[in-house]
Amino acid sequence: MLEIKNLHVTLGDSPILKGINLTIKSGQVHAIMGPNGAGKSTLAAVLAGRDNCLITEGSITFKGSNLLDLSPHERAGVGLFLGFQYPVEIPGVSNMNFLRTSLNAIRKYRGENEVDTALFLKKLRATAELLKIDPEMLKRGVNVGFSGGEKKRNEMLQMIMLEPCFAVLDETDSGLDIDALRIVAKNINKLRTPERSFLVITHYQRLLEHVKPDKIHVMTDGRIVKTGGPELAIELEERGYASFSDQKAA
Ligand code: ADP
Ligand code: MG
Repeated sequence: MLEIKNLHVTLGDSPILKGINLTIKSGQVHAIMGPNGAGKSTLAAVLAGRDNCLITEGSITFKGSNLLDLSPHERAGVGLFLGFQYPVEIPGVSNMNFLRTSLNAIRKYRGENEVDTALFLKKLRATAELLKIDPEMLKRGVNVGFSGGEKKRNEMLQMIMLEPCFAVLDETDSGLDIDALRIVAKNINKLRTPERSFLVITHYQRLLEHVKPDKIHVMTDGRIVKTGGPELAIELEERGYASFSDQKAA
């Protein structure tokens, strides 16, 4: 599904990603953990196509084609979704309209018809209820006046409605209470299919306990310094990141 090879990325004048190698197969869930400033959000931004990230070396292949050739909206069209660490507020655009317009843009890119409005609304309301999102929030401007936790749940709502085949969730669990965290984990698990993959960036073993990723990667200073299974999250919880920062990628 996704293959990142020797990816080097610079922001401004600073090298941030220094040779990332990562392969995520169809149906797999991978987690990235790592200290603040390691470059996790930069990796998410590069995948989504943010224009201030300069790729100086390496390649990203998504479903067999060069992802870097595609504009952000084309990436959404081929099924990529990014849940932001800091969701942006879009005053004047209702949450509902934003989702319907996004979904229709994706469908148009794929040569599909516009979504049936009644069916869309039915699913939107049901999903909002599942995520414990107040129906009133669907009419408000995207994320406008939402609390931190509400913004994160709204990212989940977008993910579920847009049905991506590859979702990058950047600290979607941060700032959530335990119940909301469980809801997020449950919905990730519900969306898991052999055709869909996830890259989950998180600080919390708690989320991974529920989600059970296939692989966990530790990123420090722009490199993946260790890859392992669930035991790695427990080790990190106990030992912190410091002991990993002097290890080199295998
Ligand atoms: P993480 O998500 O792992 O906490 P980030 O990817 O957000 O880390 O940031 C990685 C590093 O990139 C940080 O040291 C941050 O200060 C730096 N950075 C972010 N944006 C810019 C920018 N526009 N110019 C230069 N450095 C930046
Ligand atoms: Mg980050």
